[in-house]
Amino acid sequence: MITNMNYKRAKEWILEEDKFDSSFLGKCEAIMSLGNGYLGLRSTTEEKYTGEKRGYFIAGTFNKFSENEVTELPNLADIVNLELIINGQQFTLDKGVIKEYSRQLNLKTGELCRHVLWISPKGDELNLNFYRIVSLDNIHLTSQKIIISPINNAVHLKIVSGIDGSMSNSGSQHFLDGEKRFYDKKYMQLVQTTTESNVNIVHNTTLSFKINEKQFMMKSHIKMGRRKIYCEYNGELQQGNSLVIEKISNVYTSRDIENKNLDLKAIQENSLQALKESVMAGYDIIAKNSSNAWNENVWDRCPISIESDDGFDQLAIRFAQYHLCLMTPSHDSRMSIAAKGLSGEGYKGHTFWDTDIFLLPYFTFTNPEIAKKLEIYRYLTLEGAHKKAKENGYEGAQFPWESAWLDAGEVTPVWGDVDIVTGLPTKIWSGFIEQHITADVAYGIWQYYMVTGDQAFMDEYGYEIIFDTAKFWVSRLEYSDVDNKYHINDVVGPDEYKEHVNDNAFTNYMAYWNIKKALEYYKFLKNEKVEIFEKLCDKLDVLRISEAWLEVVNKIYIPMPRESDLVIPQDNEYLELEDIDLTKYKKQENVGSLFLDYNLEQVNKIQVSKQADVMILFFLLEDMFSLDVKKANWNYYEPRTLHDSSLSLSTHCILANDMGDTDLSYELFQRACCIDLGLNMKTSDDGIHTASIGGIWQSVIYGFGGIRMLNGKLRIEPKLPKTWKSLGYSICWKGQTIKVNVFKDRLYIENLTEETVIEFVAYGKAYKLLDKIEIYM
Ligand code: BGC
Ligand code: BGC
Repeated sequence: MITNMNYKRAKEWILEEDKFDSSFLGKCEAIMSLGNGYLGLRSTTEEKYTGEKRGYFIAGTFNKFSENEVTELPNLADIVNLELIINGQQFTLDKGVIKEYSRQLNLKTGELCRHVLWISPKGDELNLNFYRIVSLDNIHLTSQKIIISPINNAVHLKIVSGIDGSMSNSGSQHFLDGEKRFYDKKYMQLVQTTTESNVNIVHNTTLSFKINEKQFMMKSHIKMGRRKIYCEYNGELQQGNSLVIEKISNVYTSRDIENKNLDLKAIQENSLQALKESVMAGYDIIAKNSSNAWNENVWDRCPISIESDDGFDQLAIRFAQYHLCLMTPSHDSRMSIAAKGLSGEGYKGHTFWDTDIFLLPYFTFTNPEIAKKLEIYRYLTLEGAHKKAKENGYEGAQFPWESAWLDAGEVTPVWGDVDIVTGLPTKIWSGFIEQHITADVAYGIWQYYMVTGDQAFMDEYGYEIIFDTAKFWVSRLEYSDVDNKYHINDVVGPDEYKEHVNDNAFTNYMAYWNIKKALEYYKFLKNEKVEIFEKLCDKLDVLRISEAWLEVVNKIYIPMPRESDLVIPQDNEYLELEDIDLTKYKKQENVGSLFLDYNLEQVNKIQVSKQADVMILFFLLEDMFSLDVKKANWNYYEPRTLHDSSLSLSTHCILANDMGDTDLSYELFQRACCIDLGLNMKTSDDGIHTASIGGIWQSVIYGFGGIRMLNGKLRIEPKLPKTWKSLGYSICWKGQTIKVNVFKDRLYIENLTEETVIEFVAYGKAYKLLDKIEIYM
């Protein structure tokens, strides 16, 4: 297998590509992408290559290109491109000789660096160093520094750079050709306005030059083209001198909260002024401020240390924390995390259950303020959820499978990849019938409440969502007088290889759980919080609905383990479907290999699963199932699961550890880390896999670190892999911070919040923690 990735063991902070190979362009652009939750910038190089995917996205700026496409996050103008022409020869690594090459992303500082020693086809040898930062300190700001040093002779340099608005999302151009303007023959400004949603995006950029620390004026020509504004610079550079180019760019939009009441002109003026101030500071100060923000917001706040023989695991968890920060619009609760974050066009910037089940826990346990914003996003989308329920003939809040604008409701596309049998596109059913998302949202809310104890959040938002979702489920259930039970027919469960199934175990259990929670809170509010109770009665007609909850709750059909072998039917047909030899697909190098031989209709008739389904139920509602049941179902379903979704491996990793197989759990953990960090060159082209990245954190903290919230109680029962000497992490629990250090035979737990007592359970014993405690395993 080809690889160009070198995971530097010594530092465990550095992702390095140590050889240029254009087949890895897309992967490196995504996994080394830069950002801050407001914007995301794929790490495309300054010079252009065939096979690259330039991508620059701002959270929450959705646009719909045409009636028959769904809304998506538009790809903004390119600001990083910089053409370098040396003695008439364009700089490109496709030509000439590469004597030295290294591209590194420093996770700690968020800086991307590239070093190249290159001999052009004309024989000019140059030392080139490229540095780039998307600031975490000032979320609008991107800064580049390029140092060019001729080694063997003086060179003539031509540099072309500016703002290029001709980008598209695989051909869909989301912007009008907007206003362009030069200020002081130096500052370039381009306005892009989305064609349908009317969002204004204002870009500013400028380049400055220095030789040996002195400001240096290059001869410049300002230029404009269709959707482009740029400058051409010319100058001579002597051997022994170094030219330092700084390109500083910023971007503001009419969606930014602080711009809510400003007109476009004011945004243009303010952003230009902000650019001038950033230019005064310069690259080094911008980089330093951003690096400080990384320490403050992420690394000092929730450090995780893994001591092991192999530095890869430490790197992987830092990679996860790095991207968790990049993908999350923590500045604004009117938007949420996209399935590919801001690192690519994949899944169109939409939010899935990935956020509630796979990503939210990281924030709930380490940075509740951000978790709360993500929950408020769900609250703000209730309008869309009501719309979706109504369109389908239901009551209450039916959350969309894919979510974008707050009031839009469902935005899942209807047509997908080719059906190899018919040659037509395959119909995507998830937007119509993958309904478990509604209970997943309620689950995320409840988990947030149990872990943080944030009563104010529940009073204002939480109870309402739990009632409104339970209201949906009541209207969704289908009564059958054959067994006097309520069923949920015609759905897609988490396993998307089974469509139009009846009584998907995960969906039914979660709906049951959702209604039970609503009833519990109904009783609580009625007795303890009358004001809120009355408010919700008025708003949601809770008095009437609660009677329905009582009627259905014990009659919802909940598939039980079969007597013969304890297997829980994933749905009411799965266990009767044809079993085929899956060996070939279990060994696949690329996911989805099954579809080279079968179409989805055929896959629907085979006992094969895309991802964890019954298994994720065991993870979320763990205390409803015995260990024997878990093991029996693992043995049945895992061999039939292809892990074709990146959401699957981390869940299996955690469950394997719960069931006592730490070696298997560790193997699954490493496979989960390799979804983005592995050698497969194509898997991340469309963007990183955010849920899998959340899954890496869950595997370390829930899995090996043994943290679990069970019915509002904290349990800490770590089980380390053989190769780990220790694991250290901290979590927030009901407003307090706990530090956990796990070793082979013991764990130390420290309460970092003074004068509080934290109660938890470890290995069956209850503890009250005031300051420190040592427990032998
Ligand atoms: C996913 C669905 C998704 C659809 C459209 C499919 O690949 O499995 O969950 O809704 O793409 O985005
Ligand atoms: C998975 C879904 C997931 C989606 C977005 C699909 O392939 O099957 O469970 O929500 O991707 O990550």
